[in-house]
Amino acid sequence: MPPYITVHQVWQAAQRIEPYIRNTPAVYSKSLSNLPQPSSQAGAAEPSPTCNFYLKLENLQDIGAFKVRGAANAILTLSEEERAKGVATFSTGNHGLAVAYVAQRLGIPAVVCISNDVPQRKVNAIQNTGAEIRVVGHSQDEAEHYCYELEKNEGFAVIKPFDDANVIAGQGTIGLELLKEVPQLDAVIVPLSGGGLIAGVGLALKSNHPKVRIIGVSMEQGAAMYESIQAGHPVAVKEMPTLADSLRGGIGLENEYTLAMVQSLVDEIVLVSEEAIADGMRFMFREHGMVVEGAAATGVGAVLHQLIPDLTGNVAILITGRNVDDNLILNLLQPSSS
Ligand SMILES: *Cc1c(COP(=O)(O)O)cnc(C)c1O
Repeated sequence: MPPYITVHQVWQAAQRIEPYIRNTPAVYSKSLSNLPQPSSQAGAAEPSPTCNFYLKLENLQDIGAFKVRGAANAILTLSEEERAKGVATFSTGNHGLAVAYVAQRLGIPAVVCISNDVPQRKVNAIQNTGAEIRVVGHSQDEAEHYCYELEKNEGFAVIKPFDDANVIAGQGTIGLELLKEVPQLDAVIVPLSGGGLIAGVGLALKSNHPKVRIIGVSMEQGAAMYESIQAGHPVAVKEMPTLADSLRGGIGLENEYTLAMVQSLVDEIVLVSEEAIADGMRFMFREHGMVVEGAAATGVGAVLHQLIPDLTGNVAILITGRNVDDNLILNLLQPSSS
């Protein structure tokens, strides 16, 4: 079992964050389940489904992404005194939005440090919560460095985006819900960046059902966790433009929790092309009438492009968020672009 964190902390988190989150549904996807899988015979008229796919709809959270779970758990475990001084974070967007949202609900100050490359829609959403935004530099690293300066100089408590026991436990509550929603779960497909989500979900699921297959999905370019697993230690990656902007950024060279947890809990990591991500987004719109962001479409993209071998049984795909700029989604849905 992984270091430091137990499933007990995930159960505690579930109770603590209850008033701040929605228990999201895991809906059966008929259209995805009916697609021919790699193993089905060529030429078969109506291939019988080999998988039942369920979509865990975290895009339905108030802030449009699952990150409210980890942020709420981390902020609610601070002391009264710490909370009163306010919280700060650095983020590609959804975590910043989550921290700002929870701070607003608690009536405490929040500062969100972001880089220049964060999509405007996310910046606007953060500003609407009343949080203060400071735009610094062109990478996650620069925003992070600045944020710790704020902690030193102005007394804010830094809420880390993924490499934190309380954040991981909060994200893990998705795994507890899945246990109830999808009986006899065989596999779960999880968009993967810093690894807080997959570490928590993996912990919650494997503590209860050690045989559940945990599959991470990242984009081909700049997959920090994938590269770090290959190397056996945290490595820095070059950040590249991608439709899955929420998956950008490193895992932190001083990584404490998520690398070790991914090493022990995750069965495999697959990498998806930009085309697969785009196909996943289009599929979610056309088949389910849902706008989801690139990061959230990586799991569906991986299935559509048949990148995960030997999938069988009941498979949950985490649909992690819906925060995408209008123009990006409109362009993707142009008939000429598929
Ligand atoms: C943060 C995020 C992820 C990845 O979560 P990690 O804990 O960093 O691995 C996936 N999808 C969306 C929409 C996110 O915001």
